[in-house]
Amino acid sequence: MDLSSGLPLSLIQNGLPHVYPKLRRDIRTPVTVIGAGISGALTAYALVNAGLECVVVDARTAGLGSTCASTSLLQYEIDVPLTELSAKIGKAHAQRAYELCAASIGALEEISHKLDGSLFRHKESLLLASYKKDVTWLEAECKARRAMGLEVEWWDAAAVKKHMGFEKPGAIWSATAAQTDAYLLTHSLHRHIISKGAQVYDRTPVKDIRFSKTGAELLTAGGPVIRSRNIVIATGYETLQYLPAHVVQLYSTYAVAGEHAESGPAWYHDCLIWETKTPYLYMRTTTDNRVIVGGRDEAYYNPHRRDKLIKTKTRQLQRDVHARFPHLDFQPEFAWAGTFGNTQDGLPYIGGYRKMPHTFFALGFGGNGITFSQTAAEIVCSLIQGKKHPDAGIFSFDRFKG
Ligand SMILES: Cc1cc2nc3c(=O)[nH]c(=O)nc-3n(C[C@H](O)[C@H](O)[C@H](O)COP(=O)(O)OP(=O)(O)OC[C@H]3O[C@@H](n4cnc5c(N)ncnc54)[C@H](O)[C@@H]3O)c2cc1C
Repeated sequence: MDLSSGLPLSLIQNGLPHVYPKLRRDIRTPVTVIGAGISGALTAYALVNAGLECVVVDARTAGLGSTCASTSLLQYEIDVPLTELSAKIGKAHAQRAYELCAASIGALEEISHKLDGSLFRHKESLLLASYKKDVTWLEAECKARRAMGLEVEWWDAAAVKKHMGFEKPGAIWSATAAQTDAYLLTHSLHRHIISKGAQVYDRTPVKDIRFSKTGAELLTAGGPVIRSRNIVIATGYETLQYLPAHVVQLYSTYAVAGEHAESGPAWYHDCLIWETKTPYLYMRTTTDNRVIVGGRDEAYYNPHRRDKLIKTKTRQLQRDVHARFPHLDFQPEFAWAGTFGNTQDGLPYIGGYRKMPHTFFALGFGGNGITFSQTAAEIVCSLIQGKKHPDAGIFSFDRFKG
């Protein structure tokens, strides 16, 4: 699958921070994590911290799946609003999903500080009503979030104008958000687990999995076989090689990083900004005072069509920034496109799948893929240790049945 193209900022800034060997001999391990992106890296980190031996294996050069294309906003705010999610899956599960995403931001902070403090920055987040018609539900959303204990404020049009300088009919301000560099964090996680005895191999595609009563044999494209008691599938959107296509809807998405400015902030507290409109629009800033703007998704997976639109989308995203912040001299420097996927309820799939014994899925589907990756890491780590996880049902493959 062609997951991204163009010039993702993190890849330009960080290049290849670390290299890993190809697998060249048969090995045996208690757990194999397939996929060395942010989901696989966080899961392997959780496993190693729990005292489990594991091997991570990736078809590509590590990190060059969706992870290198990520704009790395960390938000508890799932693509599906809390009020809508409550109607879909019940209030208790919806609130719990939001709580878990918020807790994941805290967990990612803790992990980042252990590895390299510069990987994590607290941010505030602003969800703007794009149109007047969005105000009623967004205000109800703000109340629902406050009622469950999330630190939010309602900003009316006057407050948006005062803080942001542009006109929008309302917004939810949230205290809990952050940003990272998913690509660099992934490499830091791999380096850490290698220092603890784990093995990471890249350029090693798993081309077939054969299950037995006691585990599985993973046949890699180069010939070597990995014998493993358990498998974690952390293959991102390419997981459709193992699952029926209807479980996820694929989109093409676009991002642009502007030239760096001499000083910041670019706007109020350099908060994360996103909007209610579909396709959505989001913005953040970087430590070297760039603005990153992204969104303008297309509801298809077609790399050829996706890539043909990069220039047009870049111009549109530039106009989006200028419309809100005419004082900024936003000049696109790097633009890229990627694939991302969403599910029926906006929640990822995590845990076991009946058709694949000894296997656990750690997927980060959805606009907030990274926070979901952390939730997946925690749940999968528990399940592999034979423990029940109280939240596993919310993300299970069986949740749409009955
Ligand atoms: C432009 C863009 C912006 C985004 N912005 C954000 C954001 O701001 N915040 C956020 O939370 N999320 C964001 N996302 C989503 C986020 O980037 C993804 O959820 C996340 O990177 C997925 O990580 P992953 O490890 O699950 O998948 P990947 O990074 O794709 O890693 C999966 C790996 O599995 C490997 N693999 C697949 N099949 C096999 C096989 N058979 N054998 C061996 N290896 C295999 C692949 O090579 C790949 O490296 C964005 C995505 C895009 C495209």
